[in-house]
Amino acid sequence: MTYALETRRRRTFAIISHPDAGKTTLTEKLLLFSGAIQIAGAVKGRKASRHATSDWMEIEKQRGISVASSVMQMSYRDHVVNLLDTPGHKDFSEDTYRVLTAVDSALMVIDAANGVESQTRRLIEVCRQRDTPIITFVNKMDREVRDPLDILDEVERELGMPCCPVTWPVGQGKQFGGIINLLTQTMTVFQPGSERRPQDFEAIPLAEADKLRARFGQAFDDALDSMELAQGASAPWDHEAFLAGKLTPVFFGSGVNNFGVMEVLDAVVDMSPPPGPRKSSLLVNKQPVEKIIHPEDEGFSGVVFKVQANMDANHRDRIAFVRVASGKYTPGMKMKVQRTAKELRPTSVVTFMSQRREAVEEAYAGDIIGFTTHGGVQLGDTITDGASLQFTGLPFFAPEMFMTVVLKNPLRTKQLQQGLMQLGEEGAIQVFKPEAGGNMLLGAVGQLQFEVVQHRLNTEYDCDIRLEGCQYTAARWITADTPAELREFENAYPLRMARDAADTLAYLCTSPYDVRLAQERFPKIHFHPLREHA
Ligand code: GDP
Repeated sequence: MTYALETRRRRTFAIISHPDAGKTTLTEKLLLFSGAIQIAGAVKGRKASRHATSDWMEIEKQRGISVASSVMQMSYRDHVVNLLDTPGHKDFSEDTYRVLTAVDSALMVIDAANGVESQTRRLIEVCRQRDTPIITFVNKMDREVRDPLDILDEVERELGMPCCPVTWPVGQGKQFGGIINLLTQTMTVFQPGSERRPQDFEAIPLAEADKLRARFGQAFDDALDSMELAQGASAPWDHEAFLAGKLTPVFFGSGVNNFGVMEVLDAVVDMSPPPGPRKSSLLVNKQPVEKIIHPEDEGFSGVVFKVQANMDANHRDRIAFVRVASGKYTPGMKMKVQRTAKELRPTSVVTFMSQRREAVEEAYAGDIIGFTTHGGVQLGDTITDGASLQFTGLPFFAPEMFMTVVLKNPLRTKQLQQGLMQLGEEGAIQVFKPEAGGNMLLGAVGQLQFEVVQHRLNTEYDCDIRLEGCQYTAARWITADTPAELREFENAYPLRMARDAADTLAYLCTSPYDVRLAQERFPKIHFHPLREHA
């Protein structure tokens, strides 16, 4: 119980949204609450470059900037709040999924005019798989938007869980009067302006209904009616259900006006869970045995959920982002990478106070720290102060697109292999080596990944490559209950077998029917669309 006080005051969450719903704006406002005013511009700067994502040069730029802005730590109401950014481009969705394994809750931002959009839907799925608690913020109420009851209904359907409104809008667009806080039974009056602080907004108790009616007219009565309907149709607040990912509290507001934002940050602190226990496996007599690691446990442990190359191509150092799972990190302590049993010797260790990188003084469960290393660390690695354990649960998704790598200058083969290995470790792309030999295969979830890898192989490893299309359309990681069954399968499809960067065996498919046919032929083989680092 040594570190319970520290871990209990931590909140680690990610914002999920569809592009343009207002994530950047909201992030900026949330950071203002921590008093880090200079951040606002930084977040804007990132955004300016982000809009040109079709160009991979921009991605390069973004890579540098996003190292600084992808994790933000702030203090609010005696809590330490870690906010993780989820990359916006759909081609990097794999990365986003992994970020979601490092948080304890998510804030879903939706545009009140558009409702739940496609990209949000995919992110919701991941949260649901993990039962991550979700807080919902309905943004842009200062615009002509949809009926709040309608939105509530859609959120319920899309999330597959009941909503519980915590704030409720009075009017919208030009008639947007403000929000009623159902908990405090007060109405906060809206005023436009991007520089407003929460205390600048006037609050009037609902008990003074006559005053409110005189000011907001019919909009106020309509709001009371629809609020009553919403409360009747939706779930009462149930904290346990929220923590279990089975109910979402809903807030309304306008990010750009900093309106309704503090209510959301308060909800992150008051409702969202602190870091919880995590599953790991221990090798006992060479057999994996499940072990639950608690945040307040004394020994330090953490898991690498993101690896990012630094901008300086000559140095090849990378930042491994580690989510601390237990214990306490202090500078100079000994750390071991479990996969290789090697000591980790980072050149520097940083936290991400707002957008500045700072040397870490101490870090506890829930915090994210960045190790600058020259290699030897890969996605999914568990790092501890000595104890032998491996966290499970970092997902790799079966690629949906494949390309063959053809090296123009065969003398660069060694560099190509090194480059592919390192990019594979970063999770920038998945690399498959066919068992039967031949060119390496690249597997991606999004097209842009290929362009980035080709560009980086050229600039960072001096490997000029050509990417050629190939017949494969999917891959499945395969396992069997006995080695004999696996061998039989491998013998049946010798040309379809490949190993990925983690040396895991995969079956390459050429059509959607492949897996079905192979499964019918070999009912005892397990085909996995998702690989978890084990
Ligand atoms: P992101 O793509 O999700 O990061 O979205 P941004 O934060 O960049 O916002 C997209 C656009 O919506 C920008 O032009 C914002 O100024 C605008 N925006 C964000 N929040 C609001 C809001 O509450 N009201 C209005 N009217 N516009 C907003």
